Amino acid sequence: METVLKRKIKVGISECCFGSKVRYNGKGFDYVKNFGREKEQFIFYPLCPECLAGLGVPRTPISIKGGSGEDVLQGTAKIKNRKGEEVTDKLIKACEFSLELLKSEGIYIYMYKEGSPSCGVYRTTLKDKRLGNPPGIFGAMLLNEGFFLVCADDLESPIKRWDIVRRVNAFTWIKEAEIENINQLYEVWHIVKFLCQELDEKTSRSLGHELSILDNIQKEDIEKYRKTILEIIRKPSTLKKIKGWMWKNYSYYRKNKGIELDIVKEPTDLRSNTILAEELIKLEIKLYGEGYSFGSSPILNRAKR
Ligand code: SF4
Repeated sequence: METVLKRKIKVGISECCFGSKVRYNGKGFDYVKNFGREKEQFIFYPLCPECLAGLGVPRTPISIKGGSGEDVLQGTAKIKNRKGEEVTDKLIKACEFSLELLKSEGIYIYMYKEGSPSCGVYRTTLKDKRLGNPPGIFGAMLLNEGFFLVCADDLESPIKRWDIVRRVNAFTWIKEAEIENINQLYEVWHIVKFLCQELDEKTSRSLGHELSILDNIQKEDIEKYRKTILEIIRKPSTLKKIKGWMWKNYSYYRKNKGIELDIVKEPTDLRSNTILAEELIKLEIKLYGEGYSFGSSPILNRAKR
């Protein structure tokens, strides 16, 4: 099975994270610049639900009253601006329109701005140490639709960015992989199982065990297993796990080739997260060039730049 994606991946993004000055206060952020040349792997679809709702820039800030964004969708909470004016219907329509747009383009990855009552997922206020009423309205819709969600603030950290890119690649590949029979399912699992074990060891072990005793499989079962694998890949890793698994991969390579690489320092050597991310990427490229699959980032993207 081909494990290299050769086309750009479509991702939706909160417009204020794409450099557009569309926030309530007329400001914006450019998180995409953090990708550097890696940016070429993606096609971005910036959307601002609050602008599409006709609230304008600058605008009076809004907040959720009486519950979360999910409650707004259920009709038990409202959205009001600081002047007390209700904008619930306008905002729901704009969020529905935004979602339709993403779906019609076959997009299932979204980079969101945390802390917004519209796009926020785990916080709907920008005030430190307060969560507000998460998720926001658009955040709730994206969660309900099973989107792969990336907090745009995480793109500023090299190591989190590396984790995001490898999971986005694997997620896209699995979502689109042709799996018609049990052998293809095994093949897909074999390719992504080390990444899955890093992200959620317990679920991966039990899934691996379930798959090993299967003797026949229906189309619905294939989709059920695909969904479980996608759920695992949505989960971010931690620095500790990343370091541990990188060392496992490297040790495997060293044992099999009998070669030491000076691009990777000993695990006990102190280094910044930026250096660690650089080591990971160099290792990944080198192993790939030599025909080895790097278990922690099994799917690469080589879209034309
Ligand atoms: S967080 Fe969402 S709604 Fe708010 S400015 Fe950014 S894109 Fe617009």
